[in-house]
Amino acid sequence: MGYRLWTLDPDPASPCAQVADGHIAAPFDDPRALERLARESDLLTYEFENIPAAAVESLELAGKPVFPGSLPLRTAQDRLLEKAFLRGAGVPVAAYAAVRDEDSLPAAAAVTGFPAVLKTVRGGYDGKGQSVVRDLASAVAAFRRLRPLAAGALVMESLVPFEKELGVICARNAAGETAVFPAAENVHRDGILHLSLVPAGIPPAAEAALAAVALTIAQRLSLVGILCVEAFLLADGKILVNEFAPRPHNCGHYTLDACETSQFEQHLRAICGLPLGSIRLLSPAAMVNIIGTGGGDALAGLQEALSDPSVKLHLYGKKEARRGRKMGHLTALADCAGEAGRRVLAAHGKLSWTPSGA
Ligand code: AMP
Repeated sequence: MGYRLWTLDPDPASPCAQVADGHIAAPFDDPRALERLARESDLLTYEFENIPAAAVESLELAGKPVFPGSLPLRTAQDRLLEKAFLRGAGVPVAAYAAVRDEDSLPAAAAVTGFPAVLKTVRGGYDGKGQSVVRDLASAVAAFRRLRPLAAGALVMESLVPFEKELGVICARNAAGETAVFPAAENVHRDGILHLSLVPAGIPPAAEAALAAVALTIAQRLSLVGILCVEAFLLADGKILVNEFAPRPHNCGHYTLDACETSQFEQHLRAICGLPLGSIRLLSPAAMVNIIGTGGGDALAGLQEALSDPSVKLHLYGKKEARRGRKMGHLTALADCAGEAGRRVLAAHGKLSWTPSGA
C-alpha cells in the first residue's frame, strides 16, 4: 500500500524485522528505543499482547497517534479487567471470581461451581497458565502450581459446556466506520488454536449476536484497528465471550486467501484513516495452524502438502520452531467449509518438523 515501516522488537531476527524498512532491536520498554520509534514514525501500532501497556502509553504521551491505543491493550492483558469491562458493556461472560489467595478458593467455587478453570490473570495465552479443576482439592493443587506463574491474582471461571468455539474479527477506523468478518468455528488443541472453519455453520441469529458483541467491544474501547473476539456458543444458541485481543494476528488468518479484504489490509486501512474494504467471503475456507514441536526448525513435506492446488502456505519467518509456537498456517478453499477442512488437514498431515539440514 506504499507505506514505509519501522519496527521495534528485541529479536534481531524477528519476522517483522525481516520485511520492515527499519528495525530497532531493543526491549519493548526501552525509553530511548521508544523515543526513536516515535521520531521515525507518523503513526504507531502494535502486534503483540505482551508488550507493556506503559510503553504504548509513553508513545501516546509523546503525542504520536497510536492505534489501537493503550486502553484496549491494558484491558485485554488482565483477565479480571477484561471480564469486568465485558460485563459493564452488557456482554455475557461465564461466571467468574477473582482468587487472590488460597483461602478465597471456596468462595470462588461457590460462584463458578465445578468443573471450573483456574487461570492466571496476566501473561497467559494459548492455554498457558490455566488448569481445569473438578473439586476443591484439585483447585488448591492448581492454585499452588499456577501461583508462581502469576504476577498477581488468579481468576476462576465456570468450565463452559460449549457446542462450538467461535472467533470473529471486527475492524473500526477513526471515523467510527466498522466491518465484521464472517465468524469462524475454532477448534483448539492443548489450548492453542488448531483449525478454523468458515462459514462457522451456526444459526444466523448467533452470527448476528457475535457480530453485535464484537462491535460493542470495539466501540466501547474506541478501538481503531482490528479486534479479535473468542466466544463460546452454547446449546441454546447463546454466546459467552471468552476473551478478546486488539490485534490482527490473533486469529482468523483465513481472510488473507478467502476475503475480498484481508484482516491485515483492513488493519492498515483502519489505522491509516482510509475507508474500510469489503469483508465479503469469496469462498468457504479452512485454516490450520502450523505449530512448532521442538523436534527441529526445518519444515519437511511441503511438496506433498502443496500437491493439493487449493492449499496455500503462509510461514512467518520465525527461526526456532519451539514446542507450541505458531510458525505459520495453511489455508484451503473449497465449496464448503467441511471439504476445505478435510483438504487443509490432509495437507497439514504431510508436514513435519525436522532438525535443520536433515
Ligand atoms: P484462553 O487462554 O482463555 O483462550 O483459553 C484457551 C482455550 O481453553 C479456549 O480456547 C478453550 O478451548 C479453553 N477454555 C478456556 N476457558 C474455558 C472455559 N471457561 N470453559 C471451557 N473452555 C475453556
